[in-house]
Amino acid sequence: MQDELLAVQAKWQKANIIGIVRQTPRVTSFFFKPALPFFYRPGQHVDVRLSAPDGYQAQRSYSIASAPDSSETIELAIERLDDGEVSTFFHDAAEIGDEIELRGPIGGHFVWTTEDGGPVLLIGGGSGVVPLVSMVRHRAAQGSAAPVLLLYSARTWDELIFRDELLGLAQRANGFDLSLTLTREASPRENHYARRIDPAIIEDVLARLPMPPKLAFVCGANAFVTTAADALISAGVPANIIRVERYGV
Ligand SMILES: Cc1cc2nc3c(=O)[nH]c(=O)nc-3n(C[C@H](O)[C@H](O)[C@H](O)COP(=O)(O)OP(=O)(O)OC[C@H]3O[C@@H](n4cnc5c(N)ncnc54)[C@H](O)[C@@H]3O)c2cc1C
Repeated sequence: MQDELLAVQAKWQKANIIGIVRQTPRVTSFFFKPALPFFYRPGQHVDVRLSAPDGYQAQRSYSIASAPDSSETIELAIERLDDGEVSTFFHDAAEIGDEIELRGPIGGHFVWTTEDGGPVLLIGGGSGVVPLVSMVRHRAAQGSAAPVLLLYSARTWDELIFRDELLGLAQRANGFDLSLTLTREASPRENHYARRIDPAIIEDVLARLPMPPKLAFVCGANAFVTTAADALISAGVPANIIRVERYGV
C-alpha cells in the first residue's frame, strides 16, 4: 500500500479546476479535482505543471490550503506576482473546467496532524499562511483541543488571506488563538500588531501559549522565515522543534 501511494505521488496526474474564489486583491483560490485518489496531510504541497502547445513547460510548487478532512478537492491559494509566469496564468487565464497537471503530495517534514498534539506555534508571512491554514482547518474539523496559535503577517487588513474564517475560528475560544500583524497600515483591532515580526512579538505570542510549544512552523519568503526562526531561537525555542518552509525570493 505504501509503495502504491508513493508511486501515485511521484506521477504527474491531470486535475480539473472546479472552482475559483477571489480571496484578496492579489490572492485567488483554485479548487482542483485530481483524477486519481489523493491523500495528503496538512502542511504538504503539490507541484503544478503547465504545458504550452509548443511543448514548453513551467512547473511551480503550491501549498495545499484545504484540510484533508473535508472534501476530495484540493484548494491552492495563489498570489499574483505581476511579472511571474505561472501565477499570472492562473490569475489571468485559468478558467473552471481547465485541466492542468499536478504531482504530490510532497513534503514530510512540514506537516502537522492532531495526533502530533500541541501546543503549536504557527508563523506565516503573506501567502506563507496557506499550509498553516490547512493545519488550522484540520484541527477544527477534528474537534481537537490542541492549543494552536497562528501569528500571521500581511501588508494590509485586506490582504489577510482567509481573514474572516480565521477570525471566526479564533472567536470560538477553544484553544485556537490568532495574532495578526500588518506591515503597511495600522491594525484596526486593538490586540493585533502593526509592524514586521520582531523578537518582541515572538516573545509576546510565546507567552500567550499555555506551555512552551511542542512544535513551531514558519512559512513565507526567505527573509521572513529567517527573521522569525532566528527570533524563536533567541527566545529559547529549541531549534529541533522549529520547522520551516521557504517560498523563495
Ligand atoms: C514549497 C512551496 C510552496 C509554495 N506555496 C505557495 C502558495 O501556497 N501560494 C503562492 O502564491 N506561492 C507559493 N509558492 C511560490 C510559488 O511556487 C511560485 O514561486 C510563485 O507562484 C511565483 O511563480 P511565478 O511563475 O508566478 O513567478 P516566476 O516567473 O517564477 O517569478 C517569480 C519572481 O522571481 C522573479 N524572477 C523570475 N525569474 C527570474 C530570474 N531568472 N532572475 C531573477 N528574478 C527572477 C520574477 O520577477 C518574479 O518576481 C510556494 C513555493 C514553494 C517552494
